[in-house]
Amino acid sequence: MKKHNFYAGPSILSPYTIKNTADAILNFADTGLSVLEVSHRSKEFQAVMDEATSLVKELLEIPEGYSVLFLGGGASMQFCMVPYNLMAKKAAYLETGTWASNAIKEARLFGEVDVVASSRDANFSFIPKDFSIPADADYFHFTTNNTIYGTEMRYDPESPVPLVADMSSDIFSRPIDVSKYDLIYAGAQKNLAPAGVTIVIVRDEALGHVERQIPTMLDYRTHIKKGSMFNTPPVLPIFSALQTLRYYKQLGGIREIEKTDLAKAARLYDAIDSSKIFEGTVTDPADRSIMNVCFVMTPEYKELEKNFIDFASEKGIVGIKGHRSVGGFRASLYNALPMESVEVLVNAMKEFEAKL
Ligand SMILES: *Cc1c(COP(=O)(O)O)cnc(C)c1O
Repeated sequence: MKKHNFYAGPSILSPYTIKNTADAILNFADTGLSVLEVSHRSKEFQAVMDEATSLVKELLEIPEGYSVLFLGGGASMQFCMVPYNLMAKKAAYLETGTWASNAIKEARLFGEVDVVASSRDANFSFIPKDFSIPADADYFHFTTNNTIYGTEMRYDPESPVPLVADMSSDIFSRPIDVSKYDLIYAGAQKNLAPAGVTIVIVRDEALGHVERQIPTMLDYRTHIKKGSMFNTPPVLPIFSALQTLRYYKQLGGIREIEKTDLAKAARLYDAIDSSKIFEGTVTDPADRSIMNVCFVMTPEYKELEKNFIDFASEKGIVGIKGHRSVGGFRASLYNALPMESVEVLVNAMKEFEAKL
C-alpha cells in the first residue's frame, strides 16, 4: 500500500532525492565507487559540495558577504555555537517552544540572555507579539517554525539588532530577507536531507567580535576557511541535500514551493475548521504553521484519538501522532509531501467523522 509520510523529522524526502541517493550508493558520479566509500577530497565530492553551496545561495537569494556551511552536530549544536561565536555580552531570545528553550539554556553559558517574551505558560500555543528587543543586544534569536507546537513566524521580524534564526523545520518554504540576519541555521532532516548535516548561513563580518577563546571545531571561521572540509563532512547527507536542492530549483524555486505549501496547509486547516470532532491547538490562526499542523479531538470525542490513528494507518497514513507535550495529532506537510497525501488525510478525517 502507498504510504503517506507525515512524520515530523526525520521526515519525507522527494522521490527524486531518494532515487538519486540510492543510485549513488551503488555508483557515485560514474566513479565505480559508492558515495558511502568515496573520499571527501575527491574531485567528484568537491563538485557536490560546490554545487550544494551555490544552490543554497541561489535559492535563498543570499547576498554577498555571507558564507554557507554544511556542519555536523545537528541544529542542537548551533544552540551553543551561536552564542560562542556571536555573543560578546548580551543577546535577546524569544521563547516559543522547546527548541527555543534549549537554545536559551545554552546561551546562558556565555553571557546575559534577555528573554524578551515567552508563551510557555500557554504551552506555546501562540507566538508572543508584544515585546521589545533591547538595542544593546548582540543579536535577536528566534525559531521561525515551532515543529512541536505547530506555530510559525512566516516573516522576518523588525529588530534594532541583527537576527539569528533556527529555521530547521521551515527553511526553503518561503523567501527570506537574508540581509537582516547575522546567522541562519537549519538541521537537514525536515526539509532537505537525511539527518547528519546542518546548514549554517553566516554573515562573515559578524564573526571575530568576541574575546573568548573558541575551540577550533566550534569556531565558524575554521569551517569557512576550509569550505566545510576542515574535518570529514557528512558526505552522504550532503549528497542527498544536493539532490533536494536541484529538485527545488526544477520546481521553480522557493516562491513556487511556497504556493504549494500554502495550498496544502489551507486544505488541511479548512478540514479541521469545518469539522465537529477535530480542532486546532494554535490559539491565534495567524500563528498557524504551514509545515506542522497540530490538532486534537474536541473534549467530547477525545477518547477516539487512538481510534483515528488506527483508522488512518489502514489508509497508509503514518506519523500523525502528536508530540507527547501537545497530544492529539501532528501532520507535517514538508515540501516533499504531495497534495495527494493531504487529500488522503482529509478524506480519512471526513470518513471517520461521517461514521460516528
Ligand atoms: C528538529 C529541530 C531541532 C533539533 O534538531 P537536531 O538536528 O536534532 O539537533 C532544532 N530546532 C528545530 C526548530 C527543530 O525542528
